[in-house]
Amino acid sequence: MENKEIQNVEIEIDPYLESSKAFHLEMPLYHTLDLAIGITAEKAYAWMTYSGTTDAYCIWCGKESVFDAEDHLYGTTYSAWRKDAGFRRNVYRCSRDNDHRYFVYYLKTKESLQKIGQWPSAADFQIPQAEKYRKILGEEEYKELTRGIGLAAHGVGIGSFVYLRRVFENLIEEAHVLAQKETGFNQEAYKKGRMDEKIELLKNHLPDFLVENKVLYSILSKGIHELTEYECLQYFETVKIGIEQILDEKIIQREKADKAAKAREAIQKAHGKINGTK
Ligand SMILES: [Zn+2]
Repeated sequence: MENKEIQNVEIEIDPYLESSKAFHLEMPLYHTLDLAIGITAEKAYAWMTYSGTTDAYCIWCGKESVFDAEDHLYGTTYSAWRKDAGFRRNVYRCSRDNDHRYFVYYLKTKESLQKIGQWPSAADFQIPQAEKYRKILGEEEYKELTRGIGLAAHGVGIGSFVYLRRVFENLIEEAHVLAQKETGFNQEAYKKGRMDEKIELLKNHLPDFLVENKVLYSILSKGIHELTEYECLQYFETVKIGIEQILDEKIIQREKADKAAKAREAIQKAHGKINGTK
């Protein structure tokens, strides 16, 4: 009973209210917060008046930096803020260089707060962070991943899911190509299987995170066929992080394999030399 109550409370909290970064930098354009919900209004006020620091990627530094938020509300009280209406701007300054600034714009009414602008765009700083996946994905797949990120940053939810699903399906197909080479691979069962069954058949060739979280694919498919634009945007970050986890694991596996191959070669060489000098 108690658990159920906690769950209900969690559902009401918009995921973009979780941190200053999520609120100001990751919330998609035109996302609207309903200030009639008490907890939403309180949290939105807290982030609108936030003057602390935020860890975020700086596109000019080309790496993670610490940003200082400017408080433009200068001690406006919560009740005054609730009655307030009009356009509002928040600025984040990179602590390495004051000219590195992120601007975020909002339209505030008595009952709602809507994000209406962001410069540089969320895609501008999210895409350079995806750069590390370029090599493991290949050029075509990398383009699809960044297109998905770009669409979500501009408020296109379902379309962004289409690209993420393609990235996911390609990871599966890559594993399928490898598995087919093995004797005893059940090609018939694979062809007829649902995605979760396919993943199970390919599990020796897939990152553990993907096998453990096969449900990611059903979220993506459900997004394309059943969820609304808004719901897709709401879950975009979760699904993107899931895919990044899979790609991170692939990168580590590849690095490990490369290192092992080099070590093997060096050991063989050393062994040969020692034997030769004996
Ligand atoms: Zn910077």
